[in-house]
Amino acid sequence: DLSRISRALLSVSDKTGLVEFARALAARGVTLVSTGGTHRALTEAGLTVTEVSDLTGFPEMMDGRVKTLHPGVHGGLLAIRDNPEHQAAMLAHGIAAIDLLVVNLYPFEATLAAGKPAAECIENIDIGGPAMIRAAAKNHKDVAVVVDVADYAAVLADLDAHDGAVAFATRRRLAQKAYARTASYDAAISTWLAGEIEAAPETQTFRALGGTLAQGLRYGENPHMKAAFYRTAGAPRPGVATARQLQGKELSYNNINDTDAAYEAVSEFDPARTAAVVIVKHANPCGVAEGASLIEAYERALRCDPVSAFGGIVALNRTLDAEAAKKIVEIFTEVIIAPDATEEAAAIVAAKKNLRLLTTGGVADPRAPGQAWRTVAGGFLVQDRDNAVVDDMPLKVVTRRAPTEAELSDLRFAFRVAKHVKSNAIVYAKDGATVGIGAGQMSRVDSSRIAAWKAAEAAKAAGLPESLARGAVVASDAFFPFADGLLAAAEAGATAVIQPGGSMRDDAVIQAADEAGLAMVLTGHRHFRH
Ligand code: 5GP
Repeated sequence: DLSRISRALLSVSDKTGLVEFARALAARGVTLVSTGGTHRALTEAGLTVTEVSDLTGFPEMMDGRVKTLHPGVHGGLLAIRDNPEHQAAMLAHGIAAIDLLVVNLYPFEATLAAGKPAAECIENIDIGGPAMIRAAAKNHKDVAVVVDVADYAAVLADLDAHDGAVAFATRRRLAQKAYARTASYDAAISTWLAGEIEAAPETQTFRALGGTLAQGLRYGENPHMKAAFYRTAGAPRPGVATARQLQGKELSYNNINDTDAAYEAVSEFDPARTAAVVIVKHANPCGVAEGASLIEAYERALRCDPVSAFGGIVALNRTLDAEAAKKIVEIFTEVIIAPDATEEAAAIVAAKKNLRLLTTGGVADPRAPGQAWRTVAGGFLVQDRDNAVVDDMPLKVVTRRAPTEAELSDLRFAFRVAKHVKSNAIVYAKDGATVGIGAGQMSRVDSSRIAAWKAAEAAKAAGLPESLARGAVVASDAFFPFADGLLAAAEAGATAVIQPGGSMRDDAVIQAADEAGLAMVLTGHRHFRH
């Protein structure tokens, strides 16, 4: 079972001990063959070495990706020596047997450990090396394979002990070690890739919720944050994730987030009952209105806060028509989303190259069950989506004065909108249109003041003498903990109030409402949105 070593192929990245080992082989009459860098190291040391390219008839190419991947090499490693057909094939194709293979691989692990970029790690994935190692190890009946610098001395000792051959037991042990090396090498690559995949935001989202990638995003809320857009599994709901983009540049993370806020809000308005428009900025409505037509609803929504509406998202609950489209494109708008668009309307929007037009096929059912989730450090929160609708809430009149029919209608409108305004939310409304919105303040009084101030500003912008809050109604997403917020509303000119109730001081708040001559109804439902 002894096979004399007459020809060795050496191809090593780690050149430790190489020259001494090769010199010892040469001294024992072994012919040396090697690849570019190895060849250079050996010839510089004064050794006579054949280049692999002489064996293959090909130069090393593609940055060394292809050096030894050739029958001239693999035939020499894999041919079974006592198989006449294999011998004939070698003869026919001028393939010389390789009895000893000495390879250590491109330093993938070390490159990774040094924190090099992905492209450099990829370039350090050895292909020809493992192929040769596996070939030689498979053919260990005839070939010895050395993958570890630490084995050089033992192999030389074996040669000396066995008259220039390596014992079968040694070859088999070396083969086993060779496969262990290629296995650990591939495992390192695979583990690294798994980590890369895991680190990708789309995968994290996927793992948390399940879904399919809808769109890769250039970045998240800020340019230094990676992001992706996923569509969740299950019955599709009309909305931004399932919408068709008819035109305009790619949606950004913030566009998608804001468009969702706008469309969920406009979906509160049954298109069979009324046309409605919601204008959103930074996920908060800055104008919401009903109307006999979309254009009317849009103009009334815009009037609430024309300054903030600049660069906003416009959501409509009916098919976008030419009239409304013409009006909307008059100011800079990021996104229009609607159940559908007439051909004429789409053509009008098309004149604005960057403006995105999305169609959804319908409005979402505000009562539909579903789940909402958000991350917290080290975990995530899941809750039902807020599918409570004011029309389903029995309203309780708590003041001496009951609201008039007109006030009641506006109170419902205002509370419907308040559901979609970040807390603390205060919404003034009149005749089915918002006239002042206070959003996202840490104190409810501040939200009340901001809403009243905005109503005064909107009046100024419209050239009206009186604040739009005068004669309006007001909605609060949560109870007034003190009378102050309510009194701020009364002072601004509100005549009626809608709020959940449930404060320890409800009695004091109701008394203040009575004293101010306000009508107040309680919904029993809170619409926090943080
Ligand atoms: P050298 O320094 O001799 O130019 O290259 C030696 C390295 O090249 C060794 O780590 C060996 O595993 C690797 N190698 C040999 N043949 C090939 C090949 O065909 N493709 C690739 N990617 N690497 C190879």
